[in-house]
Amino acid sequence: MRARIAEVFKSVQGEGVYRGASQVFVRFFGCNLNCAFCDTKLNFYQNLTLDEVLEKIFSYKDYHSVSLTGGEPLLQIDFLKNLAKYLKEEGKTIYLETNGTLYNNLSEIIEYVDIIAMDFKSPSSTSQGDFWGEHKEFLKVALRKKVFVKAVICRSTTFSDLKKAVELLNSFKEQVSFIIQPNSFEIDEELNDKIEYFFSFSGKYLSDVRIAGQLHKAMSWR
Ligand code: SF4
Repeated sequence: MRARIAEVFKSVQGEGVYRGASQVFVRFFGCNLNCAFCDTKLNFYQNLTLDEVLEKIFSYKDYHSVSLTGGEPLLQIDFLKNLAKYLKEEGKTIYLETNGTLYNNLSEIIEYVDIIAMDFKSPSSTSQGDFWGEHKEFLKVALRKKVFVKAVICRSTTFSDLKKAVELLNSFKEQVSFIIQPNSFEIDEELNDKIEYFFSFSGKYLSDVRIAGQLHKAMSWR
């Protein structure tokens, strides 16, 4: 069994609730979306076996968790399931970074995952379709483990989409941390004002809302 893997490396998590945590990143190649703001449009990968990926992961020491990221890692579900199962048996903490659309595939590996960093992809941010239905189904599965939701806010992001995100999170009885992440490529006064407004609105309805930029970009890390 092989997977299309872009890279395996150790660095520091730059986004979300676990910003600053040391991780080994396994970056899967390929995605089912094509977000306008995507900063991981890759054109390189290797077809690696499970043993080859494991060898690279175990060449690193002393880290918080293994981040299975992409692209969209859930696209290569058979390989991902085997990898996550093995890592779990070895006592590793599994952190899954995902666009939050492939809920059936998530169901197949949820027992091996510890933390899920899930995106909300709003149409006004991504210039893609509407995934609110998929996000809802995804959250139903993800809530079996630790999960937080991140939304990238662009100049184009509408208040109507932000409201839908807040309503969706509010429809669950469990509290889910909501991370408002400014698009690093568009930071200016206009975006800052929007972020402040969205933060204040979300905080009226959700108990844990945070603004968090991309630490790895600010620090020029990988
Ligand atoms: S889901 Fe993530 S990897 Fe896929 S296109 Fe969007 S930003 Fe890029």
